[in-house]
Amino acid sequence: MARVYNFSAGPAVLPEEVLKEAAAEMLDYQGSGMSVMEMSHRSKVYDKIIKDAEQDLRDLLNIPDNYKVLFLQGGAHMMFAQVPLNLMKNKKAAYIVTGQWAKRAHKEAGMYGEAIKVASSEDKTFSYIPDCSDLDIPEDADYVYICENNTIYGTKFKELPNTKGKVLVSDVSSCFLSEPMDVTKYGVIYGGAQKNIGPAGVVIAIIREDLITEDVLPGTPTMLKWKTQADADSLYNTPPCYGIYICGKVFKWLKKQGGLAAMKEYNEKKAAVLYDFLDQSKLFKGTVEPASRSLMNVPFVTGSDELDAKFIKEATEAGFVNLKGHRSVGGMRASIYNAMPIEGVEKLVAFMKKFEEENA
Ligand SMILES: *Cc1c(COP(=O)(O)O)cnc(C)c1O
Repeated sequence: MARVYNFSAGPAVLPEEVLKEAAAEMLDYQGSGMSVMEMSHRSKVYDKIIKDAEQDLRDLLNIPDNYKVLFLQGGAHMMFAQVPLNLMKNKKAAYIVTGQWAKRAHKEAGMYGEAIKVASSEDKTFSYIPDCSDLDIPEDADYVYICENNTIYGTKFKELPNTKGKVLVSDVSSCFLSEPMDVTKYGVIYGGAQKNIGPAGVVIAIIREDLITEDVLPGTPTMLKWKTQADADSLYNTPPCYGIYICGKVFKWLKKQGGLAAMKEYNEKKAAVLYDFLDQSKLFKGTVEPASRSLMNVPFVTGSDELDAKFIKEATEAGFVNLKGHRSVGGMRASIYNAMPIEGVEKLVAFMKKFEEENA
């Protein structure tokens, strides 16, 4: 068995320890005589799996009691609709558009009300996070929306926007659990699991209780009402059972690594290996303004499409896979989520150095 260094933006690398544990429990989960895939979501044994997962997540993020944790489905995209459906009482919201995913969320919200773009970084191909300290946020806006880490462009909010007292909604899909967060600053935090947490098919939402009401837009499907999901502890219908089980294992793994403060330190050290190299390389260049750099997604280019393609091909052959940039930006992108070991980045940088020498 040979595992590669997988730099995919998502679905992405998971901790090997977690995969091995899941493999060992595949046929018989803790004496139940069955796989987690085969058991009722109403069983006692599964109830413990989902409850433990929630508790471990609460411990990791220090989630206050007045926030609900929901395990949902439909990907981050389904949340693009759920956010306006559940929150747009005044049919008005402010969107900060810092990349493709925020753009999609903004467009989706426009189907339900007035989605006002209050800031954008599209003028420079989303290579920076705009100053959000004094935006023109409408008095009657129901919320302010951000995508906190922009997976495709490799930028991250280092400071949260000044929402002028409005509820902050944040898509954290690609930076979830990569560092501590102050949950109390948000109304809604959500993320698809397949970037930094677990398998695709699970979306985790952390929602302040007072935002979970029956007062949703008319016609909101039962399944998309947060109240439905919260009242049933995410078990209104069959949840993505196996995915939640793997997420739970990743939470335990994160606790074992020392929690999110330790992960932040590790992620900073790991990202610095790559950024420091890019900053002095004569061939490779990072594409993001240094102040906005993500710790999770690192896009870079050589400046030549042919050299980019040659690099991706040779890197793949050497066991560094999924380094191709998103189809909308080209070049390369190394996603270096929690589960990517620092050795993976060090070896990638050594490979880049060699490539640079050979192609000088
Ligand atoms: C990947 C990604 C999405 C889209 O996720 P789906 O689960 O495929 O809907 C949305 N937002 C961010 C920040 C992402 O990284």
